[in-house]
Amino acid sequence: KCLEVVDAMKEALSKNGIAEQVQIILTGCMGPCDMGPVAIVYPDATFYRRLKPKDAEAIVEEHIMKGNLVQRLLYRAPGAKEPTPKVTDIDLFAKQKKIVLRNNFYIDPTSIEDYIANDGYAALGKALTQMQPAEIIEEVKKSGLRGRGGAGFSTGMKWGFTAAASGSPKYVVCNGDEGDPGAFMDRSVLEGDPHSVIEGMAICGRAIGAEQGYVYVRAEYPLAIERLDYAIQKARENGLLGKDILGTGFNFDIEIRIGAGAFVCGEETALLTSIEGKRGEPRPRPPFPANAGVWGKPTVLNNVETWANIPEIILKGAAAYAAIGTEKSKGTKVFALAGRINNTGIIEVPMGTTLREIVFEIGGGIPRKKAFKAVQTGGPSGGCIPADYLDTPVDYDSLGALGAIMGSGGMIVLDEDSCMVDIAKFFLDFVVDESCGKCSPCRIGTKRMYEILDNISKGKGKEGDIELLVELATTIKATALCGLGQTAPNPVLSTIRYFRKEYEEHIRDKK
Ligand code: SF4
Repeated sequence: KCLEVVDAMKEALSKNGIAEQVQIILTGCMGPCDMGPVAIVYPDATFYRRLKPKDAEAIVEEHIMKGNLVQRLLYRAPGAKEPTPKVTDIDLFAKQKKIVLRNNFYIDPTSIEDYIANDGYAALGKALTQMQPAEIIEEVKKSGLRGRGGAGFSTGMKWGFTAAASGSPKYVVCNGDEGDPGAFMDRSVLEGDPHSVIEGMAICGRAIGAEQGYVYVRAEYPLAIERLDYAIQKARENGLLGKDILGTGFNFDIEIRIGAGAFVCGEETALLTSIEGKRGEPRPRPPFPANAGVWGKPTVLNNVETWANIPEIILKGAAAYAAIGTEKSKGTKVFALAGRINNTGIIEVPMGTTLREIVFEIGGGIPRKKAFKAVQTGGPSGGCIPADYLDTPVDYDSLGALGAIMGSGGMIVLDEDSCMVDIAKFFLDFVVDESCGKCSPCRIGTKRMYEILDNISKGKGKEGDIELLVELATTIKATALCGLGQTAPNPVLSTIRYFRKEYEEHIRDKK
């Protein structure tokens, strides 16, 4: 659809004889999914949404040639009478802070020139010519960056452990196996700004003494794979990957590995095993990847979003990055807003932004004047947070204290019509399907939990079911081999914690 609008725009510009004067830049995802295709007309930064090819003529002939805004294509905030034409005045965009998605609004992801013109690869240049490896690691530590894949471990410490580990060669790995239902943050980065990931990985290579990187991307992301592959080629052609980068004697290259669609391959040890060409099953830790990662060698593994932060930290300094966010959660976080919310899509906000700001200001609130009921954060590993906690700042520790997790950034909003038992059942069904079957607590325990939930949701629940669910959940959390199983019961536990009455009503009223 978007490409059809672009073609129509080119045609309208040619027809009016101004094709030479007006540049069309095909950017990455700008975020507002439900409004696409969107376009921003500069220099006035007018935002147009829900475009169809037939709208191209009006934009060219009315706006570009005569300076009149095309009213029917402008954004109107939910409930507002007047439109908000300028992109920087729209709450959805104005209340965000972009570090990871800094380029998605502006650059053509297939143009390395565009990336370089926006400070791209300047951080790599700085890391290679002005910093020693230990200084790079220290800078990342000081930034306070924590892994954006879910666990929230200090990125600088992880690099430090790998740099100090004995064993050679060392490897740098990017986890792009984003599989949570409703999550598409990493896809947006890989499709919209692949060079930021490449640059972050190369900087790490210099810091830990690695010459080889792998990006593991799920096969369901063909455009991300295509864009990344092209970006790697272009980086090589421009002397930014491969041998003797920028004439400094530093060698570093990247290969893509395509995952075959197993959710468990997003778990770090399963991912590393899959890169080696084996069945993607988790393995016990320790040893941790910092000591024995891919091919049994010291490896740094971070996810796409984490990597995309690195160039900004190195270029602008740790202090600037650490000035954003909360005491223990620095920087920004990208979220995928989905479910019963007006503005679905991708957003990036400073850590510490409240759930209320995200749902009601950036997200535009709940459609059809329904009441907000809860938000599910962290996908199948996370939990549901009810309305009482809307003023909670979004950071690793605050969400953890509520029995949810930040996870990789999926945020599904639920309204008053959502049944919380059904929500818990949906996520558990997903986990039952995706369990690799290696250990019995996860393979058998989640299946039994699903059966109990299924009975409750169909009015066949019985007394004692809730207690049995909690007992099973507690045992699975304590005994499953990998993170998938250890966190699988979270949606059930959190819905029981905050919405126990709904479970009891299903059992009592047999509905
Ligand atoms: Fe496999 Fe589940 Fe055990 Fe992880 S917890 S190893 S996914 S069976």
